[in-house]
Amino acid sequence: MTNLNLNNEDYEVALVIDQDDVIQSVSSAWEQVADKGGASESLQTEKVIGQPLSQFIRSDATRMYIEACLKVCRLKQQVMSREYRCDSPTHKRFMALQLTPLAEGAVEMRHFLLREEPFDYPVNLEDVTPSEQTTEIKPYSYVRCSMCNSLKKVGTQDWTLPEHMGRQLMAKTKVIHSVCPVCQNKIWQKR
Ligand SMILES: [Zn+2]
Repeated sequence: MTNLNLNNEDYEVALVIDQDDVIQSVSSAWEQVADKGGASESLQTEKVIGQPLSQFIRSDATRMYIEACLKVCRLKQQVMSREYRCDSPTHKRFMALQLTPLAEGAVEMRHFLLREEPFDYPVNLEDVTPSEQTTEIKPYSYVRCSMCNSLKKVGTQDWTLPEHMGRQLMAKTKVIHSVCPVCQNKIWQKR
């Protein structure tokens, strides 16, 4: 990837995981970003270090996808990056995730904000992905891709980006997270 905007340090979050995917360290911007995401309580630095990364990725599909990517990074000993979306209710947020192999199987995961663009209509999603603590399945109407943020109505196979759904998502919409087939098969960029 050649055009990463490295000046967005406000949003830059880096964490280092060891060979067993346990979080070893987080960047200083972490708490700031966790605050913005409204998750400051559970994501305080001291509560994050020493925890398995998997604990912070609720969707099984997303967890498996990220674990597979980490495996490739360690195996190939290559810096890899790919773009993803981390939308807010009002903005499309184009992000990049960069994986850097370190000594002894550790990997640095660095997230950058590349750019933001406002949505025409607000997107009100409620994540009801069951966690390991609460396996209770709540009703949901859409599956959302954790990587590109496109949505698929339950029972269909058509993934659509939220900006192409008009006013449909203005009313609160319950979603669970997964990874769409396009993102599953997307090749990571080598650097
Ligand atoms: Zn996707």
